[in-house]
Amino acid sequence: MNANVPSEENPFEAMQARFDQAAERLGLEPNVRAILRSCEREVTISLPVVMDDGSVQVFEGYRVQHSTSRGPAKGGIRYASNVNRDEVRALAAWMTWKCAVVNVPFGGGKGGVICDPFKMSKGELERVTRRYVAGIMDILGPDRDVPAPDMGTDGQVMAWLMDTYSMHQRSYLPAIVTGKPISLGGSLGRVEATGRGVMLVTREACKHLGLDTRQCTAAVQGAGNVGLISALQLATLGVKVLAISDVHGGLYNKNGLDLEAIRAHLQKHRRLDGFDGGTRISNAEILELPVDILVPAATENVITSKNAANIKAKVITEGANGPCTANADKILDQKGVFVIPDILANAGGVTVSYFEWVQDRMAFFWTQKEVEDRMEHIMVESFAAVVDMARRFQVSNRIAAYMLGVNRVAETTRMRGIYA
Ligand code: GLU
Repeated sequence: MNANVPSEENPFEAMQARFDQAAERLGLEPNVRAILRSCEREVTISLPVVMDDGSVQVFEGYRVQHSTSRGPAKGGIRYASNVNRDEVRALAAWMTWKCAVVNVPFGGGKGGVICDPFKMSKGELERVTRRYVAGIMDILGPDRDVPAPDMGTDGQVMAWLMDTYSMHQRSYLPAIVTGKPISLGGSLGRVEATGRGVMLVTREACKHLGLDTRQCTAAVQGAGNVGLISALQLATLGVKVLAISDVHGGLYNKNGLDLEAIRAHLQKHRRLDGFDGGTRISNAEILELPVDILVPAATENVITSKNAANIKAKVITEGANGPCTANADKILDQKGVFVIPDILANAGGVTVSYFEWVQDRMAFFWTQKEVEDRMEHIMVESFAAVVDMARRFQVSNRIAAYMLGVNRVAETTRMRGIYA
């Protein structure tokens, strides 16, 4: 545990706090509880990399497999200067519950490298990636552990990963990683999948609450692959997106933002700064705007005990992993905010990752429509299952989603037994 991280903001403790509540409500036996509360395997490596100026920099990298009870570990790789082991542990466990909530046959894992991808050249990024893959090679594999993109990584990084792994194995093995470029065995619809999933569950939530999406406004924190696409997708429902932000701050326009123009601006400049179709607001302010739908799609711990009482949205769709702390949950529950928890809300990404893995193994590829229809079916069904669980057990959507996921993992854990 990282002693420097205060408890409310320790993501692994936040995960365990929710897990404990779900386990309690499920009446989970102590043995299974103890197994699922910790991570199966953790690898920490140091990566010496020759930088462009000839110096050698030693980076630290992790790969954590929380559970392989239901299938190979599955989850992204994060490149960020503040990534730490407890965060990667939490993210790995969230992947386990997420895959179980949408019922795809994977366990959960996550990786991270402490580095700043925005300050590195393409060559440096490639060398970090290949060295990282070589360092964790033994625990990866299409039937062992299948990485994907996360914050700071993209299709190009996945392509290098796939190439490094395939070169070492002397085989063409695209199913080692998902989120690849289409030409390397990537799936149509994978890039948009997380944002599209955010839209689908938000649509279902509005239906459930009797809200007309054409009358709704939204604010989106984050303008990366999840934030920007969520905003564009919400607009297809007639939702008016009033605000969006990136790490440097946000943009607000009470008449609605021109999202296509923002997309073009981001493609060119990589940041929102300089776009003149809105007024500047801070990343803290964007969360407290008077909108119907709030999509935190940036990073962890942005809604805490300090600002949860100021949230005005009726619906929070968690595009990011872990944006609300466990203390914030209590306040949001009391206020009656309808929270669509991360392990459901952003599961569209891993769902299409599953489709990508299946297509790679068959070497037979689906149309965009096939991918989208199958994903929609899974997201709509999973939303209904979570809401039903919440109603039957009188718990929040978050605890209901944990209960659904934890129960499925507990079942396979029990049936497989303890190998001694
Ligand atoms: N990094 C994404 C997530 O947190 C995608 C993981 C995957 O597709 O394996 O869900």
